[in-house]
Amino acid sequence: MKVRNPFTGQYDYELKEDTPEMIQKKATEIRTAQKKWQQHSIAERVAVLQKWLTSFTKFQAEIAEQLAVDTARKRISEVETGGIMGLMQAWIYRAPQLYKPPAERPSASAPTVQIGQQWVPYPLVGVISPWNFPLLLALIDTIPALMAGCGVLLKPSEVTPRFMDGLEKSIKAVSELTGVLQLVRGGAEAGKAVVQNADAICFTGSVPTGKKIGAVCAERFIPAFLELGGKDPAIVLADADLEVSTDAVLRSCAGATGQACQSLERIYVDESIHDQFVEEITTKAEKVTMTVNPKEGQMGPLIFEAQAKKIQEQIDDALAKGAKLHTGGKVENINGGLWCRPTVLTNVTHDMKVMTEETFGPVIPIMTFKTKEEGICLANDSIYGLSASVFSTDSDKAIEIASQLEVGAVSINDGSLTNKVYDAEKNSFKESGINGSRMGDAGFLRFFRKKALLIQTAHPETMAHFEEGSS
Ligand code: NAD
Repeated sequence: MKVRNPFTGQYDYELKEDTPEMIQKKATEIRTAQKKWQQHSIAERVAVLQKWLTSFTKFQAEIAEQLAVDTARKRISEVETGGIMGLMQAWIYRAPQLYKPPAERPSASAPTVQIGQQWVPYPLVGVISPWNFPLLLALIDTIPALMAGCGVLLKPSEVTPRFMDGLEKSIKAVSELTGVLQLVRGGAEAGKAVVQNADAICFTGSVPTGKKIGAVCAERFIPAFLELGGKDPAIVLADADLEVSTDAVLRSCAGATGQACQSLERIYVDESIHDQFVEEITTKAEKVTMTVNPKEGQMGPLIFEAQAKKIQEQIDDALAKGAKLHTGGKVENINGGLWCRPTVLTNVTHDMKVMTEETFGPVIPIMTFKTKEEGICLANDSIYGLSASVFSTDSDKAIEIASQLEVGAVSINDGSLTNKVYDAEKNSFKESGINGSRMGDAGFLRFFRKKALLIQTAHPETMAHFEEGSS
């Protein structure tokens, strides 16, 4: 598999794909090693994670460099590798506090029976991840799954595979990990083989792929934790601070070139402040600098060529249907990389793709509303329900609106806070996902099945219990 470099447009890396047979073999190896891994105490597993943190730190610069080529983002890659180290530290601290299967106790419904409760991890968790934050989304589920005692078969995206080389070195430096955590290289076919071999799936990616994986998992009767796409709305009330809301909306729409699931993609502004809001955000959008010279600038090129095409199609569709362009509007080829400046659109409607389909690019389509009820109704008019934002200087009003939004998380007076806050549990609504939260304590606890040992302490009931006419 030849892999495109998003900065130059050149296919300069070769990915050797694992065959289904190789993936099955890895799964068998993991199952063997996991038996011992599960028997370790939580303190022993934490000690191994500590070792991995040390080896990851050693390879951090190398991984960040590879990630920077994968994504054409140097600063974000440094933040991403640092974020993983933070996540490791967080689970080193939190997992032992959470691993507390309840002590043996008498049953309330059958007092002569003692209940012993065991937590049994899924032996083999398959993790399948996308290209937009390749390292973070590969490890966000992997780390707590390992801490719970699961083995992990991890398949990152074929679009951004270079970082796997450094990551693999960091894993191989920790002998206790090599059996229970194995990387799979490849695309959809490799992903399918992971799904076929696992006992539970953690998938982050698009809705169409998530639906396919969900169907296979249902057929195989294994849980699928699906974290999918979004079309996050922001509601900007008349009393919102204009400086705060335009700064946050622009950063949330255009940060990481809009290639984040929790990017704001639909902006609903009270009509009384619409013109001022548009003027301000357009002025700010025009000041955003591009990293055409990779040593400076704020916004990199689009990573995935197919996505760049979709972004242009959505902009063209909106303009053809009467949208007004204030700035940006074109995906340009600069020295082989595909670049899109922050694009501000008004006069948009829900008949346009840019207001209904995931864009995954730095596009800021703005609509007005007359009443807060209309704003809520527009925000909820979507197949997605990942997250949202509300901007208001009246926090009661903001919370009241947030409570009515059909999404798993609402940032108030900011955008996309779920990319910073990992300890707030949240579920995706609608087609944005299904099953236990990856955030908060549930991110660890969801990897256990609860097993009850029911210990009779009295003489068991006999057949006389069923004697007709007995009391
Ligand atoms: P994608 O669905 O195309 O691919 C994701 C992964 O699935 C890749 O590793 C791919 O190889 C694999 N895959 C593809 N077909 C498969 C199949 N049939 N069986 C098994 N695996 C298969 O998504 P993408 O384009 O890589 O990522 C972008 C999408 O990810 C966007 O929709 C974005 O919103 C979403 N995303 C969601 C979150 C979240 O937390 N909710 C976070 C980041 C990205």
